[in-house]
Amino acid sequence: MKKHNFSAGPCILPESVLKQASEAILNFDDLNLSLIEISHRSKNVVAVMDEAMALVKELMGLPEGYSVLFLQGGASLEFLMVPYNLMKEGGKAAYLETGTWAKKARQEAEAFGDVTVVGNSSDKNFSYIPKGYEVPADADYFHSTSNNTIYGTQMKSFPKVNCLNVCDMSSDIFSRNLDFSQFDLIYAGAQKNMGPAGTTLVVVKDEILGKTGRKIPTMLDYNTHIAKESMFNTPPVFAIYTSMLTLRWLKENGGIDWIENINNQKAELLYGEIDRNPLFAGTAAVEDRSYMNACFLLNDESAHKESFDNMLKEGGINGLNGHRSVGGYRASMYNALPLSSVEALLEIMRELERKA
Ligand SMILES: *Cc1c(COP(=O)(O)O)cnc(C)c1O
Repeated sequence: MKKHNFSAGPCILPESVLKQASEAILNFDDLNLSLIEISHRSKNVVAVMDEAMALVKELMGLPEGYSVLFLQGGASLEFLMVPYNLMKEGGKAAYLETGTWAKKARQEAEAFGDVTVVGNSSDKNFSYIPKGYEVPADADYFHSTSNNTIYGTQMKSFPKVNCLNVCDMSSDIFSRNLDFSQFDLIYAGAQKNMGPAGTTLVVVKDEILGKTGRKIPTMLDYNTHIAKESMFNTPPVFAIYTSMLTLRWLKENGGIDWIENINNQKAELLYGEIDRNPLFAGTAAVEDRSYMNACFLLNDESAHKESFDNMLKEGGINGLNGHRSVGGYRASMYNALPLSSVEALLEIMRELERKA
C-alpha cells in the first residue's frame, strides 16, 4: 500500500498522474517512442508545452498580457533572475523577509542594487507574518513569499503596492484562489505542489520587461524565453509533461476552488487536533498558519517522541520530520495529499494521547 506522503518537497503527486507519466516514459501518445527520447520540437511535445501554458492561464484566470514560462534552475535561479530583469540600474527593491527562502531571495537581489527589508520576522524564528509595514513607492518592485515552507506560515493577504508586485509561490501555487492579476511576476519551483523537480513556473506580465537599462545575459533574460515559448534551449520535457498532467487533473476535478475546499478541510482537521490534543503544540502564530505545511511539536519529547515516531512508522506515515531549523514535526498537505492521509495521522495522534 502507498504510504501517506507528507513530504515537504518534492511532494506527493496524484496517483493517476504518476501512472500516466510512467506510461509516457515507455510509449508516449502511441508513438511507440518514449517521451524522453524524442525531439522537444516534435509536434506532440510542442502540444504538451502549449497545453501546460494554457492550463496555467485558465486555472489562474489570468487576463491578456501575461506570459507563462517553464524554466530550469529551480525557484533559486528566480531569486537572481527577478532583480536582473526588474531592478533598474541604481534602482531599489523591497523585500518582506518571512523565512529562509525569502532571505535567500533578498540576498541575491543585493548584488544588483539597493534592497530594503520592509518587514522581518526573524526575531521569533519566522513564526509569524509581519503586518503594517510600508512598501516604499520608489522601489522598482516588492518581493514576497506567499507560503513559508520551512516555518509553516502563509500570507493571508497581500499589500497593495505602487511598484511591481513579485511573489514566490513555490509551496502554495494552485492551492487557493487569489486575484493573480494583482501580481506582475509569480514564480514557483514545480516540485512542491505541481510536479517533479526540474522545472520552474514563471508567470510574467510582458509590459514590465526590458526597462532596467542593464545588459542581461541571454539565458537569464525572460524575453528570450518568452520569444521562444520556453524552447530557447532544450526544456525539461518530463518535468513539464508531469506538471501538465497535474494541472489537467486539477482542471478536470473542478479547478482551484475544488482543491481549496479540500485543502481547507485538511488543514482545519489537523490544526484542530494540534490545538485539542494536550500532547502537541503548533509553532506558528494561529492567524498566519500555513494550510500547506503545518509545523508542530510534542510538548514533552522525552516522554513521547520515541513512541510517536514508532507509531508513525508503523502507520505508513512518510516525511513528517520538521526542518532542522525548527525541529519537531511538519505535515505538508499539498494538493495531492488525500484527506484520508490526514485522518490516518489524526488517528495516530489520538492513539498516542490514549496511551500516555
Ligand atoms: C523550495 C522552495 C524554494 C527553492 O526551490 P528550488 O526549486 O529548490 O530552487 C524557493 N522558495 C520556496 C518558497 C520554496 O519552498
